Amino acid sequence: MAASQRAGADRLDEGEVEIVFRRLSEAMPGRTPTAKGPKDQPDPFRSVVSCLLSAQSRDTNTKKAADALFALAKTPDAMLALEDEAIAAAIKPCGLYNTKTRSLKKLCAALIETHERTVPATREGLMSLPGIGRKCADIVMSFTFGADVIAVDTHVHRVANRIGLTNAKTADETAKQLEERAPGWALHDGHFWLIQFGKRICVSRRPKCEACPVSDLCLYYRTMSVD
Ligand code: SF4
Repeated sequence: MAASQRAGADRLDEGEVEIVFRRLSEAMPGRTPTAKGPKDQPDPFRSVVSCLLSAQSRDTNTKKAADALFALAKTPDAMLALEDEAIAAAIKPCGLYNTKTRSLKKLCAALIETHERTVPATREGLMSLPGIGRKCADIVMSFTFGADVIAVDTHVHRVANRIGLTNAKTADETAKQLEERAPGWALHDGHFWLIQFGKRICVSRRPKCEACPVSDLCLYYRTMSVD
């Protein structure tokens, strides 16, 4: 009997995790050569700034704010030289604009003072920047630097924990568990398979379990079937 079929198991075992990724890789599109990430910002500075702006904001509003901000300043020095009011007005569409203005200035100052005006290409370096957490760091690592990293957004978090790939309460914990549990071959494209699966099949409300290629393994589905 597989580990996850024993009473009380809340995660799939290693072999089942591999099967899930294999099936998702066959059913869902992976990374494309032109993938720019959810913030659509391939340049490292633009990418990290856009991630900071994206907190509690829809992608369309983040993009509006980022476009307005980059029209004013394209480098850490130029952004740091802007008046706070000018930044706040530009980024208003993404909300929390006063807090984000302060964070942006700290981010630019840190890049200038500690990183020679270059966005670090490691998770640790990125997470050392003011306002940049694991999710942002992993998005920049994956999309801007092409690293084999499964960045975890709301879709990936939901899907991973429903299936039982992870048993995490937070997106950061899901990211840590996926890094430990996903097979190495799945790290490059895993984000793309999971996010597309979350948008097409395992949607937030009323997941399409009847059309799901991993329903026989999914812990959420087994629980629902028992109920
Ligand atoms: Fe999502 Fe349903 Fe598939 Fe489970 S069986 S992964 S809940 S769509």
